[in-house]
Amino acid sequence: MTHAMTTERKGKKASESPRDILTRYMTEQQMRKTPERFAILDVVMNIEGHYSADQLIERMPEDFHVSRGTMYSTLALLAECGLVYSHHMASGATLYEKAHGVASHNHYICTGCGKIWDLKNDSINKLVMDARTPKFKKLRCSTYIYGVCNVCLAKIARLKKKQEKQHTLNVEMTREEARFAKISEELEKAAKWFK
Ligand SMILES: [Zn+2]
Ligand SMILES: [Zn+2]
Repeated sequence: MTHAMTTERKGKKASESPRDILTRYMTEQQMRKTPERFAILDVVMNIEGHYSADQLIERMPEDFHVSRGTMYSTLALLAECGLVYSHHMASGATLYEKAHGVASHNHYICTGCGKIWDLKNDSINKLVMDARTPKFKKLRCSTYIYGVCNVCLAKIARLKKKQEKQHTLNVEMTREEARFAKISEELEKAAKWFK
């Protein structure tokens, strides 16, 4: 069981592996070191990008059937140890990504579909870390830019066309259509501000 070691980045000092960090934390907290927790850690360390707890459950090896409860509590544990970043979406969903060997970074999120991207620009971090915070030690910065992706913009445009056609028919909107109509309203408001 040494594959956690192989995920260690080259060039890093002889630091603890993710498994070492988790083991030390669970010892300190007097928690049971269950094989499920280590199996979840291994899966997390081998997935790139942002994912939900349910997506992680699908990626678990066949001999580890973990419940959603176990997955959520283990992810919370990994976040406490600094091995995982969690992102709380406006929809109420939480997405996760590995934090070990990954510098904290900023994101942009589509409010239509909830997709999240890494922001390839560290000028925000520089600005925030330069900001004066009296009697407060800054540890890291995590900023989210909210907006609408091209796919959702196209859906909104299609919805608008449909609404214009059905103007007199008073057709009931599906939940998704209602959501996009609301986003469309927000976009129009935002467009006025930016004028
Ligand atoms: Zn979208
Ligand atoms: Zn990210």
